Amino acid sequence: MQRILTFISFISLPLNKITRGLLGIAFLIFWASQLHAQSPVQWSSSEIYHALEKFNSFGSVLYVGAHPDDENTRLITYFANHELTQTAYLSLTRGGGGQNLIGPELKTTLGIIRSHELLQARSIDGGAQFFSRAMDFGYCKHPTEALETWGKEDILRDVVRTFRKFKPDLVVNRFNHRTPGTTHGHHTASALLSVEAFKKAKDPNYDPESAEQFGIWQPKRLLFNTSWWFYGSREAFEDADKSNIIEVPVGQYYPPLGESNGELAARSRSMHKSQGFGSLSSRGQETEYLELILGDLPENKSNLFEGVDRSWRRLSVDQGDAIGQQVQQIIDHFDFTNPQIHALTLTKILTQLKSLPESTLKNDKIESLTHLIAQCLGLYVSAESSIPYVTKNQEVMANVEVTNRSQMALKLHRTYSDQLYFSENTQPQELQARESITVQSLAAPLRSVDLSTPYWLKNRADSGRFNVPDSDLIGRAFGPEPVQVSLDFSLNGHTFTINTPMRYKYRDRVQGEVFDPFVILPDLTVSSAEAVIVFNDQNPKTLDVSLSAHSDAQKGSLSLQYPEGWRVAPEFIDFDIAKAGQEIELSFEIYPPHGTQTGLLTPLVQVGDQFYTKSLTEVEYPHIPKITVLESAQTRVLKMDVAKSTNRIGYIQGAGDQVDRGLSQLGYDIVALDPETINSDALSDLEAVVVGIRAFNTSESLVARMEMINNYVAQGGLLLIQYQTTSGLLTQKMGPIPFTLGRDRVTDQEAAVSFLDPNHPVFNTPNILGSDDFDHWVQERGLYFAKSWDKAFTPLIGMNDTGEPQTEGALLLGHYGKGTVIYTGISFFRQFPAGVAGAYKLLANLLSYRHE
Ligand SMILES: [Zn+2]
Repeated sequence: MQRILTFISFISLPLNKITRGLLGIAFLIFWASQLHAQSPVQWSSSEIYHALEKFNSFGSVLYVGAHPDDENTRLITYFANHELTQTAYLSLTRGGGGQNLIGPELKTTLGIIRSHELLQARSIDGGAQFFSRAMDFGYCKHPTEALETWGKEDILRDVVRTFRKFKPDLVVNRFNHRTPGTTHGHHTASALLSVEAFKKAKDPNYDPESAEQFGIWQPKRLLFNTSWWFYGSREAFEDADKSNIIEVPVGQYYPPLGESNGELAARSRSMHKSQGFGSLSSRGQETEYLELILGDLPENKSNLFEGVDRSWRRLSVDQGDAIGQQVQQIIDHFDFTNPQIHALTLTKILTQLKSLPESTLKNDKIESLTHLIAQCLGLYVSAESSIPYVTKNQEVMANVEVTNRSQMALKLHRTYSDQLYFSENTQPQELQARESITVQSLAAPLRSVDLSTPYWLKNRADSGRFNVPDSDLIGRAFGPEPVQVSLDFSLNGHTFTINTPMRYKYRDRVQGEVFDPFVILPDLTVSSAEAVIVFNDQNPKTLDVSLSAHSDAQKGSLSLQYPEGWRVAPEFIDFDIAKAGQEIELSFEIYPPHGTQTGLLTPLVQVGDQFYTKSLTEVEYPHIPKITVLESAQTRVLKMDVAKSTNRIGYIQGAGDQVDRGLSQLGYDIVALDPETINSDALSDLEAVVVGIRAFNTSESLVARMEMINNYVAQGGLLLIQYQTTSGLLTQKMGPIPFTLGRDRVTDQEAAVSFLDPNHPVFNTPNILGSDDFDHWVQERGLYFAKSWDKAFTPLIGMNDTGEPQTEGALLLGHYGKGTVIYTGISFFRQFPAGVAGAYKLLANLLSYRHE
């Protein structure tokens, strides 16, 4: 993601049948998996025209990267709209390892947000979207670490599967597979896997399951989307041998869309809102560079698809040409004022298309054509529920609005669904010009109940990758909609089928007509008020647990499962909730064991013979459909005996971390300091001031008040600064003693840690630290270590990743006046929420330090 290639930015789009892409997307490949809430798509004439052009075009391009935002939207926009190829982005991960600039969601929920953002990006640039099962586990330096953590064979199989399913003629790697160590390890790994998949996808003995399901495939060329950045400078790139590099001009203007390639690409890029990638648009000539890695260089370098059959003969040698000519006729004589006149010819073409031999490509073309027919007719089909969700036994009914806005009569033969019951009326219904009807399903419970949560989160993840037992789901952005409705129509005897998800429609007094995804919930969900509870003595603490009923009349009991040595009171709490929508809060006292121990508390709800353990999280942002996640509702408990000799700590939040919360649980009296209002009085009774992560990247007010804080240190205070990032740093003067941030980080959470001065008080007072205090750390040791510092600072910790020189900038301590300044890149913000005891102990020692 983000980190390094931000300037290159660009890319992609999920096609939704429902999401209105500004770009008409003719190629609704896998759209069914990508339909998520939002209004039914309605295209203008020029969008239909653009989609027709794409429908009559063949060729496919798969762009490969590691994270949401690695993709080059400029190139994806170009392929999807100028070359009119099926274009897709394969992002190995869903990007849950990064930061969130728009809200508090992290990890799995952030991964869902980013998956949606990719779909929204694709709905603008005209591409489709794939993923693998690989998890974004945070920064790593080498592709070997990425491949080892993900399980290389599994992820390679996912990539090969996508090659076979999507059948790209060109594969374009975002990253260079020949330069491991120069960028994020996930990046290089994505390129290495793509190169290997290029060779394996044609081997029927490799992963015979996907070979049988989709057929083997050999892409024509594999290219690397290079740029001057990969050469170190524009000058070096200018002088480089470009005999293997193809220049692609991407400055096109698309009249049917009213936008330039660069404008579409920037709007697409700007959908990566959780990463803060709003982009300025560009117009005029621009160039992309593709270096040939595998396959042969085209003789004519301006024809990237040389040797690729881009005609309808790809579907049928006998009938293909005739179909292509008919579509071309429509394009040549397209009536922008009255596109319905093309619907009849299109339905005839659909009938011909259906008679061709079976293939994935044929099915994709049928999807696209059906959509084109509906759009030409102005046919409006929307399946709606008046309630937002159902549970297992609850009744639901769909209202299906069908409006024929053309001047031709249609027949509606049948309305049906795997989930709902429609009356078996076999008489086709006439739908006259301009006629609108509503078809209702019977009010009944759904036929099957598959709880609404993203498919990759339904099973406990393996370390490094999501666990997806159903191989049909692997690669898809999202699983199928919970309720889908199909309608069979005919126009002059030629039949076509429209599929639509059922959505929850309602009127919002401000927004107007709103469509949300329709979801299936358990009867009860449960959530704990705390993700982590830290005990620093033998006193019990209270855990509040909320129970939400989604069905009426829920009567049962709630208990907490707890680890050995701990005690919970009471053992059970009985409850009786009368109405769906009601929430109650129940409290348990948690008694910790002696010594240092950690474990999990799991709420367990029992109603009759049914058990419920999931929490419900709903996330709403205006740029993506509403998200529903059901996860296990666990609380981590950590018991320690940490001595501390200070108590009153001021905390200045930056980009947002939970270290202050952890300190408070440890027994500190935490005073939240708002940088806007810091004053000497507020500082004077604090024993230490802690600066949260990236506060010097986000708060101008903090920068403005540093002199006050420096004075506080001079008079005997302690200032502790957590990690800040080099880019976007608002000041170089972070505290009274100069130091310079570097980009050193130690990403191996098990890397050995050496105390540069083992007798220093921070390792001995009030707690004696040992190597076991660095066990069980998560994700990494630290990041953005200092690279140089004033001699007033003493470096205290040395560590390094395998094969690298030792860093000494992870923990600096210096004296200023009567006080102390500490800078630390150690990732307390990750260790605290994970309940890592040693991290709490180390921070307690740092805050207890006094310069006498
Ligand atoms: Zn990336």
